[in-house]
Amino acid sequence: MKAAVMREPNKPLSIEEVTIDKPGPREVLVRLKAVGVCHSDVHFWDANFPVETPVILGHESAGVVEAVGSMVSAVKPGDHVISILSPFCGTCEYCLSGHMSVCHTINREQFQRQMTEAPRLSINGEKVGQFLNLSSFAEQILVHENTLCAIDKDMPLDRACLIGCGVITGVGSVFHAAKVEPGSTVAVVGCGGVGLSAINGAAIAGASRIIAVDLSDEKLQMAVRFGATDVVNPSKVNAVEAVKELTKGGVHYAFECVGLKQTAEQAYHMMRPRGLATLIGMITPGVNIEIPGIEMLVTEKRLQGAIMGSNQFRIDFPRLVELYRQGKLHLDDMISDRIGLDGITGALQNLKDNKGTVARQVVVFD
Ligand SMILES: [Zn+2]
Ligand SMILES: [Zn+2]
Repeated sequence: MKAAVMREPNKPLSIEEVTIDKPGPREVLVRLKAVGVCHSDVHFWDANFPVETPVILGHESAGVVEAVGSMVSAVKPGDHVISILSPFCGTCEYCLSGHMSVCHTINREQFQRQMTEAPRLSINGEKVGQFLNLSSFAEQILVHENTLCAIDKDMPLDRACLIGCGVITGVGSVFHAAKVEPGSTVAVVGCGGVGLSAINGAAIAGASRIIAVDLSDEKLQMAVRFGATDVVNPSKVNAVEAVKELTKGGVHYAFECVGLKQTAEQAYHMMRPRGLATLIGMITPGVNIEIPGIEMLVTEKRLQGAIMGSNQFRIDFPRLVELYRQGKLHLDDMISDRIGLDGITGALQNLKDNKGTVARQVVVFD
């Protein structure tokens, strides 16, 4: 099968013929139909986060099951599926209490093949790294069954793939992590794919004011289409003061979707007492956030992280498909471009350059 292989950071990905193994007992072979290019891919492509090469990036995918291992029970050949980078073991404390999104942080190995086994991906016998247990910039993926969720076959897969990372990260943070209440006020800092999804989620949750904050006026215009009631551009005004003024003292919920120290601290300061700030953006390892301790104490403000929208994806994905069908989840507007495998390098560069119009560029396979 063909895949876009990363051999060196910041260099064009090369389209190569890659050997993909047959499914082991709990593995599933999926023919991909679509994969979104996510900002997290950029973080590894430009070496901001370490990754061993050669590797195939990509992790926001949807496709059709081709073959399953002898013990697979969750999906069967012909099923349409969405993948996720946070598989669950189903037996640990976190999984059993419904917090599957933090399962993999303690138990990652079991979703991969062992060193002694044949690699899932190789080129002429040389092992190719599987990124986040997925490696979706490829025609096929071979994954653990707990990486997949089956969905209705009438859901278009080029839109379904977005649910697997950007959408669940934004919407899930609103529903699961923050539990935004109807009538409450929300600020979302950063309006890329994840931020737009958080705005969309806040609108579905019934927030009365949803304030979008971004340096790009184009992204702010998009944010309005996703449900933002107000927009703030920090290149023109003091974002913290503007949000406080719009909400008479600060929002109930803030979401940081950029991954920077400055914006994380801004998200915190935009809140009223008892407010809850959720960090969603990928903060570079080594970067610390500074919050005035006594202010946090006396205002009872809260700060939390949420990985992959604190998802319960086998429950969430079919629900999000239904919300799309009802016109509440705006996946159509999320796609700015449809490209082929050979267009991924350009798409990564666009994201890195922070082009204002780029929400999601989606690779579609024939
Ligand atoms: Zn992603
Ligand atoms: Zn677990």
